[in-house]
Amino acid sequence: MQFRTRAIHVGNEPCPQTGAVVPPIHLATTFVQPGAGEWGEFDYSRSGNPTRKSFETTLASLEGGVGALAFATGMAATHCVIASLKSGDHVVACSDIYGGTYRLLHKIANRAGITVTLVDTADLAKVAAAFTPATKLLWIESPGNPRMSITDIEACANLAHGRGALLGVDSTFATPVLTRPLELGADIVMHSATKYIGGHSDAMGGALVVRDPALLKELYFVQNATGAVMGPLESFLCSRGLKTLELRVREQCRTAQQLAEWLASHPRVAQVLYPGLTGHAGHELARRQMGGQFGAMISFEIRGDLAAGKRFAESTKLFSLAVSLGAVESLIEQPASMSHASYDAADRAKHGIADGLIRISVGLEAFEDLRDDLESAFGAI
Ligand SMILES: *Cc1c(COP(=O)(O)O)cnc(C)c1O
Repeated sequence: MQFRTRAIHVGNEPCPQTGAVVPPIHLATTFVQPGAGEWGEFDYSRSGNPTRKSFETTLASLEGGVGALAFATGMAATHCVIASLKSGDHVVACSDIYGGTYRLLHKIANRAGITVTLVDTADLAKVAAAFTPATKLLWIESPGNPRMSITDIEACANLAHGRGALLGVDSTFATPVLTRPLELGADIVMHSATKYIGGHSDAMGGALVVRDPALLKELYFVQNATGAVMGPLESFLCSRGLKTLELRVREQCRTAQQLAEWLASHPRVAQVLYPGLTGHAGHELARRQMGGQFGAMISFEIRGDLAAGKRFAESTKLFSLAVSLGAVESLIEQPASMSHASYDAADRAKHGIADGLIRISVGLEAFEDLRDDLESAFGAI
């Protein structure tokens, strides 16, 4: 079955009891057992819930994994991976990284004696050099955040496996529509389902998908022991989101490409960071790894300082000033003061997060309307 058919049918079988085409939302926290000491498929909703299971089944199919685990948020999913490490372990992670992951690694994981090295993972020699004998995990994002750097997933998988480490990919920006890291050799795919998978700015969620049953078992153990599972209502909303994921993502990419090209020729823009532009350092790699579309996230640097960037981001009408991304509504933000505010100023400079950098999440509105909205914001700075 093709991707978009699986998105609708796998894990979404009609209810055998009532014939309902959409499986019911199971709110029950506990399940009657066949006998004392005998366990049915479900017993307690932290350990397993039919609605959550349904979403996990669909997502595992779309990513090509043996199974998926759904969490309350994306950070809970990433935390589950970190919690599976132990004191003394070392993590190599991309420097173009989600702000919350940066915080988790530097301000929580360190408390458990886990050390971290950030590198530009677009440069494989630097990645190789960052490994130590204690490295257990290589953690990457492609496209990266907020500079949209592209990392070679297959090469990173080979590199990590050659040194006895696992490769985890935060694939939130790419979605399984554009990139399927497990097929490229990655061990763990992570999603903030809050973004494209939910897709409508109305549900928080996270997920891990893996291809090794033993790793699934280990991560499930940590998830059940720590408890940050996805709730039944969110599971339903994420299952619904998956059904239209391919259509939404492809259309949002199409509009993003048009906007990126328009921005690249705008006199008030110093630089556009979008892998769909031929001038982007990761363009050729992205073409192979993302199948000809390049995502719907664009960063660009306007000519101006922090205050000008702030005025610009505050002046759009259709693009809402908000963090988050991936929904049908277009959003705009200033990484230096919003999504990456958890970075120290020195780290922002080191990671190329300029004061005039603006990040947009392109939604499903018409290209012309979004273009006109940005044009009027340029007039306000
Ligand atoms: C939002 C996001 C996360 C964190 O997910 P939450 O659902 O907000 O916890 C992680 N990685 C990326 C790339 C994100 O965009």
